[in-house]
Amino acid sequence: MLITRVHFNIVFLIFLAISVQAADTFAATAIVGGTVVDLEGKAPIENAVILVEGERIAAIGAAGSVAIPDGAIQVDAKGTWLIPGLMNMHVHLGLILPGKMAAELANESEAALALRMAASARETLQAGVTTIRLPGDTAHADLALMRAINKGQADGPRIFSSGEALTITAGHGSKGSKRNYDGPDELVKAARTQISAGAKWIKILISGGIATAGGDLDAVLMTPAEIHAVIDAAHRFGVKVTAHSGSPTATSIAIDSGLDCVEHGYFLDRPTLKKMKEHGTWLVPTIVVSQPATEPFFKAIGSPPWYLERRNSAGIAHWKALQMAIEEGVNIALGTDQLPHEPNDGTTATAREAQYYVEAGMTPLQALRSATIEPAVLLEAEDEIGSLEEGKYADIVAVDKDPTEDIKALRNILLVMKGGKVYRNNL
Ligand SMILES: [Zn+2]
Repeated sequence: MLITRVHFNIVFLIFLAISVQAADTFAATAIVGGTVVDLEGKAPIENAVILVEGERIAAIGAAGSVAIPDGAIQVDAKGTWLIPGLMNMHVHLGLILPGKMAAELANESEAALALRMAASARETLQAGVTTIRLPGDTAHADLALMRAINKGQADGPRIFSSGEALTITAGHGSKGSKRNYDGPDELVKAARTQISAGAKWIKILISGGIATAGGDLDAVLMTPAEIHAVIDAAHRFGVKVTAHSGSPTATSIAIDSGLDCVEHGYFLDRPTLKKMKEHGTWLVPTIVVSQPATEPFFKAIGSPPWYLERRNSAGIAHWKALQMAIEEGVNIALGTDQLPHEPNDGTTATAREAQYYVEAGMTPLQALRSATIEPAVLLEAEDEIGSLEEGKYADIVAVDKDPTEDIKALRNILLVMKGGKVYRNNL
């Protein structure tokens, strides 16, 4: 029976293909010879072996203490320092800034937007960033991309997204939004709509911002009743809320309603920062956007003069707020408000942001933590990511010097692994 035989052969071939693929996916990889940095400030593991099986770290320890199975792929990491994949908590993969960029992308379709975001997601991995939080993108392309990456249809970092940011009429971001929401009822409905679409965060904009002319940077644009209603609605679903805020007053009102995180914090004063510390409210500084390192970037994209001026004047207060936040011991998670890989002062926005934290008063270890374990805690994902430990996802980066001695080590990324798969190897 010819047909049966052909049929059998096809079934056999499919079986073989699946077996080969499975073997490939689950082959062990041993990263050997590198120094594993300790995020708690203890001594590093020198001449380490990190054994990766499938997507996770199967074992980690000094050479000799970890058995390397026969057939494991070995990656020689001698002379490097191994740290967890970096995390960037303020990224808009579809970001469009005023000026030339806005003009060029004025008629961008949603399909083109999704593809542009997918390209940025691939570049994000190249910068050593294996997890990002998206506080506001459009058309839910972010959620589609997140699902595509999770299914292995696209390459990119782990994504935690807030879907579309909730803007109010005339407020920051309102002109770029398809819809604005006014009053507690509309904001509650809007929050639930994002949650229903798959958002893991809700982003609200409670004061003005740099990039749009909607309201003063330090004005309380959203009413206390609106702020309270939207935070309450999100928390009922176990979803956290982050607020774009430059204003101490707006921030203080939102903390009273249980706000989880503040973005930027341009004009935060000491009493507000003390209140954040007391409540455990997080700060994602995005300091790089208001500081001199990014000036050439904004000029290159043709930012209008009003924007450059607004940015420079906010930059002075923003820097002071960051210094005070570090002094007060506020929880800080790294975020850039630029693409993680955006070229910046000879490196990436992510590495430059971490360097600014040290310049503003953090130790290099604190800055490294703000880009690894601290964001994992912010995301409530510290059991899965954020440090190199047995059982966690194998999100691993190698750099060429000790980042706890000099944070500039993050400028030179030599190896990027996410979920056990190598995306970059310059070893
Ligand atoms: Zn932003």
